[in-house]
Amino acid sequence: MKVLVWIALAVLVYLALRKKITSAQQSSQQAPPPAQTSAGETMLACATCQVFIPASEAVMRGDNAYCCAEHANQSA
Ligand SMILES: [Zn+2]
Repeated sequence: MKVLVWIALAVLVYLALRKKITSAQQSSQQAPPPAQTSAGETMLACATCQVFIPASEAVMRGDNAYCCAEHANQSA
């Protein structure tokens, strides 16, 4: 009976390895495009509280960037 357990184990390992190999092949064949994140976005420091915000979300007053309209008004 012990032999059956070993055969079952061997089949399970074989199936697991085959699944791993096929999934690895699939992922290498169709690699997903690089995610478009805000990682490359310019970060600006708020002139009032020094918190960094993405340039697209910053409130601009002259040459200074602010994290919110409140801080922009505080320094004005
Ligand atoms: Zn701020």
